[in-house]
Formats: sequence, C-alpha cells, structure tokens
Amino acid sequence: MRAQPQASHFVGGSYQESRAGTPFDSLYPATGEVIARINTADDAIIEAAVQAATAGQKIWAATPPAERGRVLRRAADILRRDNHALSVLETLDTGKPLQETLVADAASGADCLEYYGGLAATLTGEHIDLGGSFAYTKREPLGICFGIGAWNYPIQIACWKAAPALVCGNAMIFKPSEVTPLSALKLAEVLSEAGLPDGVFNVLQGFGDVGAKLVAHPAIAKVSLTGSVPTGAKVAALAGEHLKKTTLELGGKSPLIVFGDADVDNAVSAAINANFYSTGQICSNGTRVFVHTDIKEAFLARLAERTSKAVLGDPLDEATNIGPLVSRQQFDKVMHYMQLGQREGARLVCGGSAATVESFPDGYFVQPTVFADVGDDMRIAREEIFGPVLSVLDFTGEDEVVRRANDTEFGLAAGVFTRDIQRAHRVVDALQAGTCWINTYNLTPIEMPFGGYKKSGIGRENGHAAIDYYSQVKSVYVEMGGVEAAF
Ligand code: NAD
Repeated sequence: MRAQPQASHFVGGSYQESRAGTPFDSLYPATGEVIARINTADDAIIEAAVQAATAGQKIWAATPPAERGRVLRRAADILRRDNHALSVLETLDTGKPLQETLVADAASGADCLEYYGGLAATLTGEHIDLGGSFAYTKREPLGICFGIGAWNYPIQIACWKAAPALVCGNAMIFKPSEVTPLSALKLAEVLSEAGLPDGVFNVLQGFGDVGAKLVAHPAIAKVSLTGSVPTGAKVAALAGEHLKKTTLELGGKSPLIVFGDADVDNAVSAAINANFYSTGQICSNGTRVFVHTDIKEAFLARLAERTSKAVLGDPLDEATNIGPLVSRQQFDKVMHYMQLGQREGARLVCGGSAATVESFPDGYFVQPTVFADVGDDMRIAREEIFGPVLSVLDFTGEDEVVRRANDTEFGLAAGVFTRDIQRAHRVVDALQAGTCWINTYNLTPIEMPFGGYKKSGIGRENGHAAIDYYSQVKSVYVEMGGVEAAF
C-alpha cells in the first residue's frame, strides 16, 4: 500500500523537495508497511517557506475578509467532496478505523473551515465615544503563524489551526507530526484549489528540531502547538525567549464522574467514547472514571459486556471499531501501563494485553482495557497513557469526588453524569477543566472553544475565542479638537 506524495513539502503553492533533508518513513500501523518516504525540511526550504509566507501574507491581508471567507468555504466543500479518499489516507497514516475517519477527521476539518469562513465578514472592531473625540479598534493579523501538529487527528488539527489563522489574514507554516506527515499536504492542495493565494498555507516536514528552528525564526509571529506537556514546556520556553505569542493544546488525565442517579447505559456509552474511540489516543479522554459505589458493580458489568463486543481488526473495513495504536513506540508505552496497572494492584476487568488480529500479525493492536479498584496514587490514574486503558475509581461523596477529580496537574476536560440538574452545574463550576460535558463526553463541535486549564495548555482553539489568539487589536484615538500642551 503506497501513499507517496508528489514531494515532501508544500511551499509557495506547489510541492517541493528538500534533497538535503533526512529521510524518514511513514508506516501503516496495521501492518508496519512503509506507505511513504519523506525528507525533513532543510534550512533552504525553511527559508523558502518563510519567504513564500511573507509574500503571500501581504496579498492575503489585503484581500477583503468576505473573500477570505469564500475561499475557506470553498475549501470546506472540497474537503467534503474528497472525504472518502482523505479518510482512507488518514486511516493509512494513523491506523484509525475508516468507520471513524469517514466522520471525524476531514469532515470535522470541513466544519471548521466552513465555520471560520462564515465568521470572516463579521470580524469588526469597536467605536469608542470619548465625547467629541473618539477612538476605534481594528483587528489586525499577526503575520506568519507556525502550527505544529500531533499525530492523533492530523488533518483536523491542521484545520483547527489554519482556519482561524487564515480568516484573520495571517499566513501559516504548518509542520505535521513526523508520525503522520501526509494529510496536511492534502489540505494545502485543497486550499490552493479553493483559491488561496500561493504561500499563504505551507507545509514543512520534520521532527522536533525543525519545529524548534521555526519557533525561534524571527519571521514567525506566533506558534500554535498540539502535543504533549513536555513538548509544550520546551516550545513555550523557546517562544518565551523570543517573546512570541503561543497557543498550546496539550495532554490530559481527565475525570468522568458518574453519580449514583445517572442513567447507567448512557454513562457506559460515554465511558466507551471517552476511552476507546481512536484506540484511546485522544487528549481530552476521560480516563479516570469515578463511579459512585451504589452503581459501581452494575456499571462495570455493563461496561465489560459492551467492551467485549468491540470489533478489532482491519482499519479499512467499515465494520471495525478499534484499529491499532499509531506506532511501535505508542504500543510499547501502552503495554507498559497495562502491566503496571496490574503490578500496582488494580483489578483487571477486561483486556490487559496485546490483541491478535488475523491477517495483521505485525499491527500494533491492543485490547481495550478496564481496570477497577484503581487508587488515586497509582501511576495509571496519574499519568497520560494515550491508549485504550480505562480506570474506574470508587467514590461516595460529591465534595470528595470533586477534590479528587481536581487533584491532577492537568485540566483539559471533565464530564459529569447525573439526573440532578443543580448538582450537575455545581460540580461543573468546581471542576478545574477547560471543557466540561454534562451527561455526555468528548463532543467538540467547532462552535465551542476548546483548551486546557493548568498544564493542559494556554489559549483556546475553536469558536469565536480562537480569533483572539490569531489577531491583535489596534486602538486608534482620533482627536476632533485642538491639542493642548503645558508650554
Ligand atoms: P509530541 O509532543 O511528541 O509532538 C507534537 C509535535 O511537536 C510533533 O509535531 C513534534 O514533531 C513536535 N515537536 C517535538 N519537539 C519539539 C520541539 N522541541 N520544538 C518544536 N516542536 C517539537 O506529541 P504527540 O506524541 O505527537 O501527540 C500526543 C500528545 O498530544 C498527547 O500528549 C496528547 O494529549 C496531545 N494532544 C493534545 C491535543 C489538544 O488539543 N489538547 C490534541 C491532540 C493531542
């Protein structure tokens, strides 16, 4: 199976190669086959991208916002037109089942481009009456924004960064994760076809060193990273040295709290979505499932029964629910935590080991795993695993569970299941998390701001909130009278 792009990078409106770059392979996680060979960006192509973005940004910033919006909305239509081919590509690059990529990847990217395309002509400043004289504000672009992607939702992440950046009149250089380099190139093609001027959206490939070079590059005004907390700290430190604006979307260890009055079937559905979708490789996953002792055994029985029905297998078969993990490295990490949970004394309810899938002996498949009787101090309850490993923790009191849910360095997301409307809002008010769900989990419509408290991030993506992070406000004072001076 091959998915070799025309060349490694997309710069100035066309595919470009960097022969001096270091080659690396993109693998299909279900088989370990090489599907593409890519070169990392060398210094020459980094400079070419910066120059193309500088020239493109000038043209784009002078384009009327309503026209910018039309380009983004055309790109949304093209993503939808090409959804099947893009979904297959995303499945090959990530291993996520086609059942998911058909509805959650390019499709959510299209929603994002459409949303920001619709906002384009509505982005206005304000008029401030000063009694005779007045002031006004206008929103201006930052310049060239640098987007850095993670590997779990490659095209969605590229769209979540590109669309708000572009609608504000910025150019973007985007570096996808080295694990999933392919679909961002397709997004660049789509934007070009939609009429985006050359150089406004560029894709450069590479590992962390390429990322760091661009973070430090004087032409870059802003950095937006989706990645792990340790990478976030490095990027923030380097960006801070150069006083660059940053948005950081980082990791989590989010709580999902199920009170005794909850609808057990709905809560089990949410726990499944919060832990096993995308083979558990989602930043906002609710991996600490606090279940009230009154319903704990019923909850666990239902969860185990439904988890046993999950179909693991060929990611390209639309009947498959769970594909492999993205890489050997991720497989080793998840296996380590599955063994650690057992050594730490958690009760293994189901799963707990690698999965054998017929016809895919070299795939990075693991069983969806549920641990019960998990203690707050166990490492499986404290560290981000980023795999299908669900921990159930018991609780009895509301104050107690809120305190324990908040007892983490992360603060990306949280969920509450209860039929008591006052309790739902009271608990959500007390939870330290950027995104909360009441009686559901892991829904991230583009209209809703998304981002983390505490070490889970800085800034917000999505919704109107993202505009603040991709634009700067200029205040203009207009004097209508004379000018007094002391002497
Ligand atoms: P990662 O931190 O290893 O890498 C993320 C990106 O940063 C990659 O493109 C990588 O090449 C780049 N990078 C690494 N070192 C760098 C450096 N020093 N300077 C600049 N760039 C550098 O993360 P990952 O393994 O690709 O993704 C998984 C992590 O991402 C998890 O922690 C997950 O929670 C998080 N994530 C967060 C969100 C969110 O929106 N909050 C979404 C998806 C994933």
